[in-house]
Amino acid sequence: MSAPGGSSISPPWNVGEAVAHVRERIASAAGRAGRRQEEITLVAVTKGVALSRIREAVAAGVVDVGESRVQEAAPKVAALREAVRWHLVGHLQRNKAPLAAGLFNVIHSLDSVRLAETLSRHAPQRVDVLVQVNVAREPQKYGLPPEALADVLRSVASLPGIRVVGLMTIPPLHPDPEHARPLFRRLRTLRDEGARVLGTALPHLSMGMSDDFEVAVEEGATLVRVGRAIFGPRDRAG
Ligand SMILES: *Cc1c(COP(=O)(O)O)cnc(C)c1O
Repeated sequence: MSAPGGSSISPPWNVGEAVAHVRERIASAAGRAGRRQEEITLVAVTKGVALSRIREAVAAGVVDVGESRVQEAAPKVAALREAVRWHLVGHLQRNKAPLAAGLFNVIHSLDSVRLAETLSRHAPQRVDVLVQVNVAREPQKYGLPPEALADVLRSVASLPGIRVVGLMTIPPLHPDPEHARPLFRRLRTLRDEGARVLGTALPHLSMGMSDDFEVAVEEGATLVRVGRAIFGPRDRAG
């Protein structure tokens, strides 16, 4: 049986084996790009995944766990707070920002100055944030258009309680992962320009999911957000 992205985990799905396999693929992609494997953090995305299976991933060495919705994350964070660094990878509405500021260590989906201000006001401890960019300019997709990035970075960089550490993107769905490569490359260029605007480093690029994380690593990803390749197809992941 073949899993997304050419994995070869045989049923019943073994989360620990899948984590090891994803790590091997990250290491190979890093090697192809002349990068060190340690530069890349695997964020296991657990939307729709039960706590027991998240624990299997943690037992396999996963430290970084991502959720796409604040409400779904809340009980999981409460159960696994000590063992895990929690990432919010999905869209964040401003009315949920106070709760999110207390739950997550890293928020990948900052897309407005007002949201940043709300997070800043409510962060009980420092929250790392990445600015989401709609690189492909898809209508109805979250994230800033590239030309809005510099102004937003300037406006949020000095807010207390949050620290801007990089950029995130979600490319359009496409069966060929190579389709995402120019968009990943563009995010990296935008990151470099943003860092110049701020005069500080923006070390992180959050890009790459189950079907395209190897391409993302080749293009400089430091955070890859992987769900199905670790936990199996979403309808079976329960
Ligand atoms: C669900 C999700 C992922 C993981 O997707 P997979 O295809 O399961 O790897 C990554 N990022 C975001 C924003 C998501 O919503």
